[in-house]
Amino acid sequence: MKDTFKHKGLRQQLVGIVKDKGITDEKVLKAIGKIPRHLFMDSSFLDHAYQDKAFPIAADQTISQPYTVAFQTELMQVKPGDNVLEIGTGSGYQTAVLCELGAKVFSIERQLELFKITSKFLPKLGYRPKKLIFGDGYKGLVTEAPYDSIIVTAGAPFVPKPLMSQLKVGGRLVIPVGDKVQTMTLFIRKGPKDFEKHEFGEFRFVPLLEDKN
Ligand code: SAH
Repeated sequence: MKDTFKHKGLRQQLVGIVKDKGITDEKVLKAIGKIPRHLFMDSSFLDHAYQDKAFPIAADQTISQPYTVAFQTELMQVKPGDNVLEIGTGSGYQTAVLCELGAKVFSIERQLELFKITSKFLPKLGYRPKKLIFGDGYKGLVTEAPYDSIIVTAGAPFVPKPLMSQLKVGGRLVIPVGDKVQTMTLFIRKGPKDFEKHEFGEFRFVPLLEDKN
């Protein structure tokens, strides 16, 4: 688990790329500059870790593109101490970003293999989410609700109702909605039954899977 000057230099270049694409939140940029993304990937992908691209990880899943991670995180407006839920732990990279921002992070993953790998790996890097859960993100995590923000890191064919209902009033749900291509969507809960919807550009994610093992 080496993090060399070369890696650090490449990481600063990546921060520049993400900034040029329109990310302005300094805390998010700082997190990307700090987290050793190459360690979240297979060693065979080392050279690719600091390109602004998604890459394969275990169980046919992907680590999201850094710009996408930054874009979604910026929309969440995380403050230190926020209660945050992530659906799709995957490599744990997004989880690490949320930890860097000082959030209390709960994260759900439905692939057992990834859940096991990432549960062991994150603490080794010093990241301690409140809880990593092996389960189905469509249900959210009612025991720790309500959340200041919820992020879904897989393409959702529809917006799962439990995620809406587990948001605090004032809370934010960031979710890519669609089948083959997804529209990044932000819901802000304005009242018990009142949600404001904002749509952003198109993104591509692996699917948020339901009822499959
Ligand atoms: N945040 C991750 C992205 C991983 S890709 C990262 O940066 O590495 C999306 C992840 O969502 C995959 O790991 C996939 O297994 C997971 N996923 C898909 N459907 C899910 C569901 N219903 N509940 C929880 N996780 C799910």
